[in-house]
Amino acid sequence: MKRDITMAARQGLLLCDGGIGTQLMALGLPAGEAPEKWNLEYPDRVAHVHQTYIAAGARVLTTNTFGGSPYKLKSAKIDADPGLINRRAAEIACQVAGENAWVAGSIGPTGAMLMMGDLSEEAMYEGFLLQAQNLLLGGADCVIVETMSDLQEALVAVRAAKQAGDKPLLASMTFTAGQRGYRTMMGVDIPTAVRELTAAGADVLGCNCGSGIDDAIHIIRELRTLTSLPLLAEPNAGLPQYVDGQTLFRESPEIMAAKIPALLAAGAQLIGGCCGTTPAHIAAFAEQVKGLPPC
Ligand SMILES: [Zn+2]
Repeated sequence: MKRDITMAARQGLLLCDGGIGTQLMALGLPAGEAPEKWNLEYPDRVAHVHQTYIAAGARVLTTNTFGGSPYKLKSAKIDADPGLINRRAAEIACQVAGENAWVAGSIGPTGAMLMMGDLSEEAMYEGFLLQAQNLLLGGADCVIVETMSDLQEALVAVRAAKQAGDKPLLASMTFTAGQRGYRTMMGVDIPTAVRELTAAGADVLGCNCGSGIDDAIHIIRELRTLTSLPLLAEPNAGLPQYVDGQTLFRESPEIMAAKIPALLAAGAQLIGGCCGTTPAHIAAFAEQVKGLPPC
């Protein structure tokens, strides 16, 4: 029986996986196409990406459902049943994880702007609820609400996921450095995010995506002064750069791994990567933390 992931993170470091979408593109997913489609069309390729992360040393796998909310799937012109897409994704990840790793059901932004009235809060809640229920039906051990910029949307997702089942909830927002300190694209600062997400019931807080590992260290340091909850950090492999029509990420496994001790010292317990990070990054992180007590 797997331990509760929040408890495990309180007792030691948990290595998470890296980017999923970028790895699926390497397996032939055309740029611009929704990766979630592949949970039904090419489950073996999705499983392969999970396997490469397990082989690299990851103990937490994220499902291929970042864009799996019904609204987002519809925007991507995917007609398949959103419930089925999420359920299958969790089943695929659970099959790879077995008893040796946790599966975090991923919920990302819908792409709808609540303040613009693109979608009502009720409709957004219902969509996230359906997504979370199916992730848990498929066997996910916890839910991660990630890459959020709009606090209101993040809170709707957290509440829906808590309603879906009594499982740990990880909430992560994307902060970037600006003149007024670290804020999300929608202007949310770190203290406000901590206060509101904690009140909504998040068990783990964190930051993911955005820029590279240096910013993650600063953000985790600030988060640590504000909460005693376990903290998650999944930075990108640097800021994406567009060169000759291609997206490049400049932070190599070596560059990022060298800064893992600083990220740990800042106060993170769950460490992985977001866009542009690969199994090679996670393997380098694993090498870096080898001497630490396993949890
Ligand atoms: Zn990302």
